[in-house]
Amino acid sequence: MTITVINPADASVAGHAPHLSAAEVGAAIDRTSAAFPRWSRMLARERGELLRRWFELVRADRRLFAETMVRENGKCLSEALGEIDYGLGFIEWYAEEARRVYGDTIPSHAADAAVMVIKQPVGPTAAITPWNFPFMMITRKVATALAAGCTMIIKPSEETPLTAYLLLDYARRAGIPEGVFEMVTGDPKEIGALFTGDERIRKISFTGSTAVGKLLASACGQGLKKMTLELGGNAPFMVFDDAHVEDAVAGLVAAKLRNSGQVCISPNRIFVQEGLHDRFVAALAEKVAQIRVDQGMQDEFVVGPMINQAGFDKVAQLVAEAREQGARVALGGRPHAKGGLFHEPTILTGLHDGMRLAHTEIFGPVFAIYSFEDEAEAIRRANDTEYGLVAYAYTRDLGRAFRLSQRIEAGMVILNSGSVGTASVPFGGVKQSGYGREGSHHGIEEYLDVKYVLMAGLQH
Ligand code: NAD
Repeated sequence: MTITVINPADASVAGHAPHLSAAEVGAAIDRTSAAFPRWSRMLARERGELLRRWFELVRADRRLFAETMVRENGKCLSEALGEIDYGLGFIEWYAEEARRVYGDTIPSHAADAAVMVIKQPVGPTAAITPWNFPFMMITRKVATALAAGCTMIIKPSEETPLTAYLLLDYARRAGIPEGVFEMVTGDPKEIGALFTGDERIRKISFTGSTAVGKLLASACGQGLKKMTLELGGNAPFMVFDDAHVEDAVAGLVAAKLRNSGQVCISPNRIFVQEGLHDRFVAALAEKVAQIRVDQGMQDEFVVGPMINQAGFDKVAQLVAEAREQGARVALGGRPHAKGGLFHEPTILTGLHDGMRLAHTEIFGPVFAIYSFEDEAEAIRRANDTEYGLVAYAYTRDLGRAFRLSQRIEAGMVILNSGSVGTASVPFGGVKQSGYGREGSHHGIEEYLDVKYVLMAGLQH
C-alpha cells in the first residue's frame, strides 16, 4: 500500500510513500532495538563522524531537498533553503556535541570510596513529527538521539514524507546503519500505539498538536517512558510605545509569514500599545501589501497555500467569525482570488480577548492586532493563555526588557527580534506547550540517563 502525497499549491501528486502494515512497523522497531547495543558502545567521535558525513552529503544537495519540500509542503524555495540550513545546523551541532557528554565526580561521603556520575543513552527511542517543517523537525530529533548513543525510529507526517525519506536515504549513504535510524509511515494512530506500547522504546519525542501530545503522554505513562513534547502555541507579540517601529514591523512580518503562518511560534496575538497603534498598523499594512501570494517554486519570497483543506477552512472561518463580531479589516480578509488553499494575508484590528481568534492557534497568514494601555496589562494578557511556547516583545527600555524576561510564562522570550531558532539554543515550552528542550547542550540531556556510581573498598 502507498500514501499519495499532494502538492497543496495545485493539488497535483507530489509523490508516494509506503503505507506500512503493523507487522512491518514492528519489524522496524525490532531493528531499532537490535541496533542499540552496538551503536551506544561506539566511540562518540565515530558517531560524530557519521553525522558529519550525513551533514556534508545533504548540504551538497540542498537544492534537491528544498524543491522536494516546496512540492509537498507549499512553502517557497527561499524558505525551504532556509529551513535546510537551520535543520543542517542540528546535525552539525550534535556531530560535535557527541564528544562533550560529560559526567561529574563528586567529593566522596566515605573515606574509602569515590563517587562518579556518568551519562548514558536512554535506549532505543521513537519520534513523531508534523508537516510544517518536514526537514528540520527530523534532523533536530535524529541528530540529537544518535549523538547521545540512542537509536531512533521516526514517523514523519504523512502529509510530508518525501523530504523525510530523502533524509533517510542520505543517512544510509553516509554510513548510518539500518536500525540506528529507521523510518515508518502508515496509520498514525496505529504506529503511535506500537511506539508507546513497546517496552523496548525508552523515550518518545513528539512535535505536533497538544491534543495528540496528551494522548501519547498518557500512553507513555503506562510504560513510564521519557518524553519530549513540543506542542501548540499562542504566541503574544508585544510592541511598546518606545519600540523602534520599522524594526518591530519587519520582525513581525518575518515571524508571521514564515511558512504562511503555519508555525507553532507564529505571533498569534499582536499587542500594540495604544499611542502607537494606528501608526503601527499603517506601516504593517504597507509592508504586507507588497508581498505576493503564489506557489512556492520561485526565488522570490511569497506567501504559499495552507497545507490542506482543513487548515484552509480553519483560517477562513476564524477570519469570517471575527469580522461578524466587529473586527475591522486593515488588509486582506478573504480567501485569495487564486482559489484553492490560498488565503489573503490579512490584518485585523478592533479585536478583543473573548474572540475565538484570541484562544486558537490561527496557523495562517492572519495578523490579529489588539491594543493595550500599559506594561502590566500587556503582561497579564500575554500570559492569559493555556500555552507557553514563545513570547516576543519590542521595547528599548532595559528595565522593561528584564521584567518581561522574568514575568512572561513561556519557554522562550524573544526581545527586539522576530527570529527564534538555531541549533545552539534550547527550544521548547511550558504549560500546554509541552516540556523538554531541543537544541543546545540541554537538548542532548533529554536522551541521557544520569547514573551514580559509588566505588567503595578502595583502601583495601
Ligand atoms: P498533529 O498533532 O495532528 O500531527 C503531528 C504528528 O502526529 C503527525 O505525524 C501525525 O501523523 C501524528 N499523529 C496524529 N494523530 C496521532 C495519533 N493519534 N497517534 C500518534 N500520532 C499521531 O499536528 P499537525 O497538524 O501535524 O501540526 C500542527 C501542530 O503542531 C500545531 O499545533 C503546532 O503548534 C504544533 N507544532 C509544534 C511545534 C513545537 O515545536 N512546539 C512545532 C511545529 C508544530
